[in-house]
Amino acid sequence: MMGHTHAMTGAIAWLGLAPAFAALPLLTESSRFIETGIMAGALGPAELVAGAVVCAGAAMLPDLDHPSATIAQTFGPVTWMLSKGVSWISGGHRGATHSLVFAVAMGLGAHWLANTYPIGRDIMVVLLIGLALRAIGVGIPGNKAGSAMINVGLTAGLYAVFLSLSVGYAWLGLAVGIGCLIHVVGDCMTERGCPVLWPLGAKFVLPWKIGIKTGKKFEQKILAPILSVAIIGLLYWRLAPV
Ligand SMILES: [Zn+2]
Repeated sequence: MMGHTHAMTGAIAWLGLAPAFAALPLLTESSRFIETGIMAGALGPAELVAGAVVCAGAAMLPDLDHPSATIAQTFGPVTWMLSKGVSWISGGHRGATHSLVFAVAMGLGAHWLANTYPIGRDIMVVLLIGLALRAIGVGIPGNKAGSAMINVGLTAGLYAVFLSLSVGYAWLGLAVGIGCLIHVVGDCMTERGCPVLWPLGAKFVLPWKIGIKTGKKFEQKILAPILSVAIIGLLYWRLAPV
């Protein structure tokens, strides 16, 4: 699937699921999370939007295994190097990063960062905002350096806005896990499928070759508009005063 499709499904997943997660007793009342309350405040307008952006960015993480993809150029050489590393570790495109193991590991890792290492958490949040912006097409076509500069500026701006609205990131791990997972689900809908149960080699593909062809008419002309409308609708539904 294309970057923007993944990013949009990530935002939709968060806007759709956040209230349901907030209602789970485990995430709000268990003794382990009681002080932080993993979803505490995650439903306020600013945090709901921040969560949607972060989840959209996390939905791009699995494709960092593809160094020549646009997404790898988000922050210029920084994300390109990161992408090279991810690609090398995961064994090329649509390998280990397109699995349940990866989604759970990233979610737990982000949750750990959010609770123990504020600088690491902020780096992660900034990276995810940048990936989300890049995925929806922020940048100048054909100008790598210019695109990276614009993205750095906008990402810093958005991060500052979230900071000024005192957005907390207790829910970071959940958003990252969901974002990675929705990416894997999305790629399973394509004709190439995903190794969901990696390290087992089996590929999960839709039967009878009904999988979506990446970047073709259906994805660009039909799916993209539907997803955009869904995001606007969900934002309105969640944020409009009743
Ligand atoms: Zn992918």
